[in-house]
Amino acid sequence: MEKREEEMTTVTVMHGCMIITMDNEQRVFRDGGIVIEGDQIKAIGQSSLILAEFASLAAEVLDLSGHILLPGLINTHVHTSQQLARGIADDVDLITWLHHRIWPYESNMTEEDSYLSTLLCGIELIHSGVTCFAEAGGQHVSGMARAVDLLGLRACLTESIMDSGQGLPSSWAARTTQDCLQSQKENYERYNNTAQGRIRVWFGIRQIMNSTDRLLLDTRDAASQLKTGIHMHVAEIPYENQLVMDVHKIDHGTVTYLEKINFLQNNLLAAHSVWVDNSEISLLSRAGVKVSHCPAAAMRMLGFAPVREMLDAGICVSLGTDGAPSNNRMSIVDEMYLASLINKGREVYANGTTDPTALPAETILRMVTVNGAKSVLWDDELGSLEVGKKADIVVVNPSTWTMVPVHDCISSIVYCMRTENVDSVMCNGLWIMKNKKITCVDEEQIILKAKQASVELLKRAGIKLPSRMNII
Ligand SMILES: [Zn+2]
Repeated sequence: MEKREEEMTTVTVMHGCMIITMDNEQRVFRDGGIVIEGDQIKAIGQSSLILAEFASLAAEVLDLSGHILLPGLINTHVHTSQQLARGIADDVDLITWLHHRIWPYESNMTEEDSYLSTLLCGIELIHSGVTCFAEAGGQHVSGMARAVDLLGLRACLTESIMDSGQGLPSSWAARTTQDCLQSQKENYERYNNTAQGRIRVWFGIRQIMNSTDRLLLDTRDAASQLKTGIHMHVAEIPYENQLVMDVHKIDHGTVTYLEKINFLQNNLLAAHSVWVDNSEISLLSRAGVKVSHCPAAAMRMLGFAPVREMLDAGICVSLGTDGAPSNNRMSIVDEMYLASLINKGREVYANGTTDPTALPAETILRMVTVNGAKSVLWDDELGSLEVGKKADIVVVNPSTWTMVPVHDCISSIVYCMRTENVDSVMCNGLWIMKNKKITCVDEEQIILKAKQASVELLKRAGIKLPSRMNII
């Protein structure tokens, strides 16, 4: 029996590359080697030592000279359901965006649409070096799970949950609090810990304006009982805070109210959290709430999040792309670049200059690795390249016009790297992209099917986009 198991686990050795481990000692091997056994990292160190000890045992020995290895990147706020809606809500105000584009679109999705949308989204995530993502809350978890399983990715899947609010499509408006909880418990039963343990199921709250207190509190209790997380959009716009203040007769916004009803816990992943004041930053920090900062989406529709202040207060802040209609580009590589620039630009001194030292490259890199892993409550196995952790690895080829010359590998990764520099991606010990080719699905076929499904979905939802300029 023992021998059989031994035969089944393959050993892969990669060597000759720079390895940015993101471990506690912040080790970077100039000429490093790493050994993968099954789905785990078995050894890591200097190339010569790794080769001497493991090369003879390996089924595959890869010389990755000139490449940089990183832990798999973690995108902590993704709307997989919205990928087929890329470009349907550009340059419109938030109410048009939500009520006239996104809600009609999402409420008309079939299970197959969710599957295709997640496949298309997943392909883009993998190309940008993502091995794990947190779904922000979308339609048809079954479709998402099928796609994640097939792509070989890792994900925390969440259903979009609303039990109240103005202007909801009729099929959603009919949902009771009980329905919302029951459906999520069933998703948990069915899909949690499936796909070789790559899929986990979380609870969702779309946002406070679409949630009763009963939903908030029962979600808190159910998630605690099942030892899973909650993903929720928190304090996105001033209007949200104002509404909470008016309805509940309090003098601060969403975060203050959530604390008042004992909703804030360390398993809460709060998306955006742009409109929080200093007292609310303290509340988030004290409760151990994690924050997903989505720089592109924030710049487009929400505002400047106090990211430096949140990091200074000890809050675990990670990065997310948000959905395709809020960003268009679903590349975590682009978000790294934006997160740094936007947060430097936000620190304007009295003389009008900005602060180039704000959010340095190593902080940004921590946000998409170590902090990402903590945010998805998976840091015991993810976020760094260390013995015993899951083999989720990104291979970067820096020898292109986008990155050459590389004098400082950490700053090059954050400020120079493009999605196109991501060469190969391993998740759970298997290559899900090799030499820029997605391994588990036919990318061209999915692009074709996604185009058709998107046109049909928009027709079904009655969404017509006004034409721009003089298209003849
Ligand atoms: Zn979102």
